[in-house]
Amino acid sequence: MQTPKIIPLTPSHAVPETMPGLPASWPKNAPSYFHVLSKPSGATCNLDCTYCFFLSKEKLYPNSRFRMSDEIESQRAPEVTIAWQGGEPTLMGLDFFNRAVELVHTYARPGINIQHTMQTNGILLNDDWCRFFNEHHFLIGLSLDGPQAMHDTYRVDKGGAPTFQKVMRAARLLQEHKVEFNILTTVNAASYRLSSASTSRERLAFKRATRSPSAL
Ligand code: SF4
Repeated sequence: MQTPKIIPLTPSHAVPETMPGLPASWPKNAPSYFHVLSKPSGATCNLDCTYCFFLSKEKLYPNSRFRMSDEIESQRAPEVTIAWQGGEPTLMGLDFFNRAVELVHTYARPGINIQHTMQTNGILLNDDWCRFFNEHHFLIGLSLDGPQAMHDTYRVDKGGAPTFQKVMRAARLLQEHKVEFNILTTVNAASYRLSSASTSRERLAFKRATRSPSAL
């Protein structure tokens, strides 16, 4: 393997502060962006979507609590994106995320641009979560598989109950709190089978609720 060329720091690669443990030079091919995918609750989730491929990964770690440790590392790239995912990341609770954001602010280099994103099923969202997202400029991905019949075909809770109404409630809360969000839709057999069965009224309600003019 070719050894990366180490060059002296230039303004575009400059690190504003000397940080313990970091080299004084910066590899020429070092990235300008750093994107970390963080799964603080591992594969644990409060839903039981029948198409989910990830829930079974719990079995790979039989004695794990599936909770992120307290270790943190500093990055030198000027833009860092932290993408919070699961399972379901909100299972960690709001206190965990308040602390995580506080630690990010504490250890981030001056001038660094940090973006938080989160993919959630929306079940636990409430006013407190949405205020937090708004305050810290989170970009939220909300999992919603279309109008009710499509969504509820596979996206069910641990008791097999449908979840569409709860996710739509989460979408309304995000709108009310002016949180930037998008919809992640899994296209599957039900999308195809039920697309002609959903009424125009259902489709319009879905578009309005999700602000998605192109949806369905
Ligand atoms: S929300 Fe559904 S698809 Fe996502 S991790 Fe939970 S069970 Fe799996």
